[in-house]
Amino acid sequence: MTSIEAKLQQKVRLTLEEGLSLYDLPLGTLAQWADGIKSAKYGDRVTFIKNYYLNFTNICRYACKYCGFRRNKGDADAYTLTLEQVVHKLQSAPEAIREVWFSSGLNPELPFQAYIDLIHTVKRTVPRAQLKAFTAVEIDFIAKQFQYTHEYVLDRFIEAGLDRIPGGGAEIFDDEVRKKIDIKTRPEDYLRIHGLCHERDMQTSITMLFGHIETRKHRIAHMLRIREFQDKSKGVQAFIPLAYQDENNPLAKRGVRGPHPVEVLKTLAISRIMLDNVDHIQSFWIDSGAEVTQISLHMGVDDINGTMIEENIAHASGSKAKTYETTQALMQWIEGAGKVPAERGCRFEILENEVRVGS
Ligand code: SF4
Repeated sequence: MTSIEAKLQQKVRLTLEEGLSLYDLPLGTLAQWADGIKSAKYGDRVTFIKNYYLNFTNICRYACKYCGFRRNKGDADAYTLTLEQVVHKLQSAPEAIREVWFSSGLNPELPFQAYIDLIHTVKRTVPRAQLKAFTAVEIDFIAKQFQYTHEYVLDRFIEAGLDRIPGGGAEIFDDEVRKKIDIKTRPEDYLRIHGLCHERDMQTSITMLFGHIETRKHRIAHMLRIREFQDKSKGVQAFIPLAYQDENNPLAKRGVRGPHPVEVLKTLAISRIMLDNVDHIQSFWIDSGAEVTQISLHMGVDDINGTMIEENIAHASGSKAKTYETTQALMQWIEGAGKVPAERGCRFEILENEVRVGS
């Protein structure tokens, strides 16, 4: 047993250097440790959600170098959905949904009221669904655009019906890497907005975009920053490592390739080990693919997000996954990995007890 494994056995927190050296362990060893931690919390349970992922505009003032989704206003395929189109899409969902999730471009043409109207429209159209919308990057942009505080924007959105914000936009917290890939929102602002949500009794998820130009050390530092933030804030409910997609974006055009499946799996397992104060580790199947997601259920992952009806953003950057998986398919993935599926809501509450395929 290595000294790190001895520390893990004693449940002692790992440092940055120790976290980094976890990558040197064989995948099977990492899986054992990560799965042991996950199983102690949840047994064989793996959760999913029935959700619709709506990207209401692709017009964006920013130009993150990993993004293949954004368009300029005058581009032929630039769009902003009307409220009627939003209603039509939600009413045409192929199965009953529990969550409407939207992340979109930062469209400077939209008035503040457009966001409020959007929230009202979603809540009216699918009252049974919870609304997870506006990443910290979007809230920061909207606040700057209208010269409001983050608090003001968040409070107006909550008042209108917002249930949660998505974790997108954390990317990688290192300032040098952020400059190189042109991320405008400062990590301090991203975390500040999440902290404001926690103060308002809204737990959040935090992401990490990895496998582009960052190093493994940047990833561990990112996790440690979340661990430290969570020690104080206590509202980080899930961590979601997102594998960089390597097509149709400026980084891909420079030849930056995405992470190998083993790197994805190791990163998920290490997330579970390092983030001892975050309840859920999610494998985002849109980015990792169905096969890696199934294997990740033995790497400390306890959640696979959801049906993701109509995902566009990762696909615009090259995701080869489908743009929607049925509830039945998600349950079969979980069952196929020898685990027990359970449907959850957007606050990670279990909606039904373990439902087995065919029952
Ligand atoms: S990632 Fe988001 S903020 Fe960045 S360019 Fe793409 S749509 Fe805009």
